[in-house]
Amino acid sequence: MIQLKTKEEIEKLRIANKIVAEILQILKEQTKPGITGIDIDKLAREEAEKRNVKPAFLGLYGFPASICISVNEEIIHGIPKKKPIKEGDVVSLDFGVIYDGWYGDAAITFVVGEKISDRKKRLLEGVETALMEGINVCKPGNTLKDVARAIETTLKKYRLAPICDYGGHGIGKKPHEEPHVSNCVINAENIEIKAGMVLAIEPMATLGKRANYYRKLKDGWTIVSKDKSLAAHFEHSIAITENGAEILSKID
Ligand code: MG
Repeated sequence: MIQLKTKEEIEKLRIANKIVAEILQILKEQTKPGITGIDIDKLAREEAEKRNVKPAFLGLYGFPASICISVNEEIIHGIPKKKPIKEGDVVSLDFGVIYDGWYGDAAITFVVGEKISDRKKRLLEGVETALMEGINVCKPGNTLKDVARAIETTLKKYRLAPICDYGGHGIGKKPHEEPHVSNCVINAENIEIKAGMVLAIEPMATLGKRANYYRKLKDGWTIVSKDKSLAAHFEHSIAITENGAEILSKID
């Protein structure tokens, strides 16, 4: 069942998601060549502690860390590693917190260092634009199929290969609630969007040629592109109002 949230509940979710956005910004600034995933994970935990919130992913379904760090061909659910991050790496940080029982969830991808190749730029721009185009159609009366269409069309415009089997979700007192928010029309649900829904929208794509071309690593978590092509993932949690979407995981 899809739970519609009250104004008071959305206020809690607003606080949770704002904290996520703030911490992601700090982690991005700290991700310089030489830092390890383990260092970033520790920082994420410390920043959560400072704000009296709990990292949402630690132990979630058995996940062994506080944050998902997916580097280069890793698409999502990467486990923080000891290996130092290098200049030019494409780094995705997916982070969540629990504030007063309510969940926040967002993700960003960026390239480490100053120099960014045109292909990496296209990858990041394409997935972030797909996220914003998806959010733009999140309004009462439209359906989740419209969201998937906006995301998929944008990714294709940027010549990116979408990942269809993973996607967004409702969010509230649980980290993953109904509905599933697909990034591809083929497996999107024809569910009408209503005011009071709170959704995490999260397109992910690769620079590869084939859509939905991924595999899971032996660690049981990390999803990587099968052809080793670079991947990006952007996520915002949003609240649906009568007028459209309010992005909750945004820094003012
Ligand atoms: Mg999510």
